[in-house]
Amino acid sequence: MIVLKTTRELTLMKEACRISAAALRIAGAAVRPGVSTWEIDRIAYEYIKSQGAEPNFLHLYGFPATACISVNDEVIHGIPSKDRILKSGDIVSIDLGAKIHGYNGDNAATFACGEISDEAKRLLDTTRESLYKGIEAAVCGNKVGDIGHAVQAYCEARGYGIVREYTGHGVGKALHEDPSVPNYGTPGRGVRLVPGMTIAIEPMVNQGAAAIKQLPDGWTVKTADGKLAAHFEHTVAITKSGPVILTVE
Ligand code: MG
Repeated sequence: MIVLKTTRELTLMKEACRISAAALRIAGAAVRPGVSTWEIDRIAYEYIKSQGAEPNFLHLYGFPATACISVNDEVIHGIPSKDRILKSGDIVSIDLGAKIHGYNGDNAATFACGEISDEAKRLLDTTRESLYKGIEAAVCGNKVGDIGHAVQAYCEARGYGIVREYTGHGVGKALHEDPSVPNYGTPGRGVRLVPGMTIAIEPMVNQGAAAIKQLPDGWTVKTADGKLAAHFEHTVAITKSGPVILTVE
């Protein structure tokens, strides 16, 4: 069931999304050689709590941390660890959110650790840009398939693989609501976008093939071919005057 939000609810969601965006920025600023992914997670946790909010990934479906931190060929759902020490050249995807006043925010970005390769830069630039292509398509009267198509077309034209098994989603009182928002699709197909919908658009893009595999930890998702992956996400409100990115400071 898709839950449409009132103007008042959107105001409450904006606060959750603002805190989510700030936490992501602060966590991303901590990415540097020699730092563990656990330390980055703690920084995000402390910031979210300092705002009177709750880290909404923590304990969700049993996830043990504030942020999913996925390095290099890890696509999503990496578990922060004191043993995972970042080194120059790594790309680091951080996905996190905050809940306050009963509403959720959700956002993600991939950060460069030290100096990264030109190939890695191109993957980050393409994935970030594909998120904005998806957001541009998130207008009233369009369908969910228009968003997915915009993301897919942009990335596949540049030779990248679009992960199929995980998708964007509605966001609101629950972190994951209907509808699913795939990063692939057919224009004009799927759920119609109407004012009051709030969705997370989150391209997960592989440098090589689209195929993924899950690690025995039950969480970490990697590329099957061992090539790099990137992930960018915003929570977006569908309004009469166009898409509004909520995960901004
Ligand atoms: Mg999400």
